Amino acid sequence: MEERPLVENYHAATAASRRFAEPIVFWDETLRDGEQMPGVHFSPEEKVRIATVLSDVGVQVIDAGIPVVSPDEAAAVRAVVGAGLRAKILASARTVPGDVDAVIRSGASHIAIFVAASEVHLRYKLKMTQDQVLQASLASVRQAKEAGLHVAFVTEDTVRAPFDFVERLYTSVMEAGADRLVVSDTVGIMTPLTFRWYLEEFARRVHPVDWSVHCHNDFGLAVANTLTALEVGVTTPHVCVNGLGERSGNASLEEVVVALESLYGIRTGLRTERLYELSRLVEEVSGIPVAANKALVGYNSFSHEAGIHTHGVLAHTLTYEPLQPEVVGRHRQMILGKHTGKAALVEKLKERGVATTDPLLLELLRRVKEGGEARGKGQLRSFLEEYRTLFEHPGLTDAEFWQMVGDAGIRVEAQ
Ligand code: MN
Repeated sequence: MEERPLVENYHAATAASRRFAEPIVFWDETLRDGEQMPGVHFSPEEKVRIATVLSDVGVQVIDAGIPVVSPDEAAAVRAVVGAGLRAKILASARTVPGDVDAVIRSGASHIAIFVAASEVHLRYKLKMTQDQVLQASLASVRQAKEAGLHVAFVTEDTVRAPFDFVERLYTSVMEAGADRLVVSDTVGIMTPLTFRWYLEEFARRVHPVDWSVHCHNDFGLAVANTLTALEVGVTTPHVCVNGLGERSGNASLEEVVVALESLYGIRTGLRTERLYELSRLVEEVSGIPVAANKALVGYNSFSHEAGIHTHGVLAHTLTYEPLQPEVVGRHRQMILGKHTGKAALVEKLKERGVATTDPLLLELLRRVKEGGEARGKGQLRSFLEEYRTLFEHPGLTDAEFWQMVGDAGIRVEAQ
């Protein structure tokens, strides 16, 4: 008799509608977009530390930063380039000759040239016409190609721009030699189905060979939209460790990689068992705490406390876990507290070869529940108070700012 599988896998039923690129090339933005997150600043040494682990994990392209920003930033990009990593090092530039020059001087082999595409950006931010944007883009792409760089062309706010302009712009830069085209959902307004339509339309009009998406998480859809893009055949997803990035961040590296591997069975070639280590490193260096319930790398991702769940997982991990924690370099945790049940205690006592009677077990359970409740709350409250003070007002205080205004010699007239 044929045995039934323990769980059904319906992804197979939709496999025909997916066209994954081979290979998928991961482009990490932690050191650029991730650093643009309020309160985050990486020193050159810190950028090298993160880039080294990213490269060891198998990320193929690392955006090290925008060298024209400051001498410190240029030094950081040079330091990452000088680290001799296996990953390709990319640096970013606006469509301004000085920006492109700064990337050329940084030694990076790859450049991302970016300009905005939507009408609101052109009219209010750039104060440029579509033709001016096109001319500046072509000039920058040619400048970078002449210097021998691999050129990615990026528009900000692509998915809110007129499609005819997007088509004209991308077709032209491709003819001018751009190697890779990047479509950005800069303010995170796409949904998987709309994005699928958009990218298929983009492919039909522009015929990209090597293309990327840059998805933001304003509506919590960055990873879902990035997966959609990969299903359509996009080759090079932009990702950030821990989903760092402007506002609500970018698509999280670990979530995109592990979703591909575990849900679709794609071999990305990345060493997923080092993703937790990478996540902790970026948490520490960025100072941005990972949410306890963050997918895969959150503190609770593989923890069980509730009696029913613990009992299930102890009987078979597939009951309440979609993948083994070891896949991302972690271990399962059984939490002892208010929701603990008998099965967890029996299992825990086994660690020291202890067997006991039911009345004593129930007495122990009562004590564990009480103890867990008392402990968690008090500690967490005082921690949260400190956390809020730090995160509700990142950066300088108003008082510090006005002090600096005075120190800089700027006179403020009395109002
Ligand atoms: Mn961005």
